[in-house]
Amino acid sequence: MEKKTKNVRRGIALILIVSIFAVLIMISGIMGFFFTKENQKMQEEIVKMDEMIEDKRLQQKNKEAEIVELEEECQDYNDVFLQLERTKEAYFSSAAKLEKQIRNGENDAKIAYLTFDDGPYLLSESFLDILEDYDVPATFFCLMKCSETGYAEQNEAYDRTYKRIIEDGHTLGNHTASHKLGEEGIYQSLEVFMDDLLRNRKFIYDRYGYTTEVMRFPGGTGTAYRIPEVKEEVHQEGYTYVDWNSMTGDGKSVLSPEEYVSNVLNDTEGKDILVVLMHDYSRNTLIALPDIIEGLHTQGYIFLPLFHDSVMCH
Ligand SMILES: [Zn+2]
Repeated sequence: MEKKTKNVRRGIALILIVSIFAVLIMISGIMGFFFTKENQKMQEEIVKMDEMIEDKRLQQKNKEAEIVELEEECQDYNDVFLQLERTKEAYFSSAAKLEKQIRNGENDAKIAYLTFDDGPYLLSESFLDILEDYDVPATFFCLMKCSETGYAEQNEAYDRTYKRIIEDGHTLGNHTASHKLGEEGIYQSLEVFMDDLLRNRKFIYDRYGYTTEVMRFPGGTGTAYRIPEVKEEVHQEGYTYVDWNSMTGDGKSVLSPEEYVSNVLNDTEGKDILVVLMHDYSRNTLIALPDIIEGLHTQGYIFLPLFHDSVMCH
């Protein structure tokens, strides 16, 4: 009886052990399945991440290529400006040589520098049109005309004129910001004068990116020399200055266009280099300009824009 009971217990124990094994095998199977699936998911995630990284890398490469391209374009623009600067230098160096030959009697050529003072004016555009029609370069001694308090439309018109003077290849000269004469004016002291002159230089540079190198004293050197140190001081600031040896007379009185023409054309004797003073506010000068250009051309003058090292500049 005791033996039978023992056998039953053994049987139960065996069944229990087998059952436990079976359960363990099942659990490990389920776990295995689960982990394999998880692993697969992870692998897929890793592949996705790799693809994303590759994408980002490609994007970065494209951006880098774009930057290189932009840098090359910038270089091209810089090259154009450099080229322009060199062309301008070469042009003025040839003009300087020509002036010297003329002065030494080695060349029969004659030069006329047409200069227009006190602008820009709303009429300046019409002067620029005539100069463009005749393909004649000139020099505009401008003031600081655009201001915060000025009328927007007028400012826009002046802006266009300053820009066109530069783009059409004329010389833009500095004629001080205010041109204010009299006791309270620019010539009351060296400081006041230089401040006014440099204010205009800064205005033109900041607004149009153009460095003025030639200046004309309002009223000419005869007026400016009231301040003895002024010559030295404008040289210190990199300027040369120029007066005139010919004029229509439009700054003094209103005469007829014919008189303006005759004032210039009949006063060229012995002047192989001419600096003609005019004002681009004068309607009669505008009417006279084609005849002045044609007349000077007939007398053998060629037209140039003034430049820093011209023999006419001091
Ligand atoms: Zn003036």
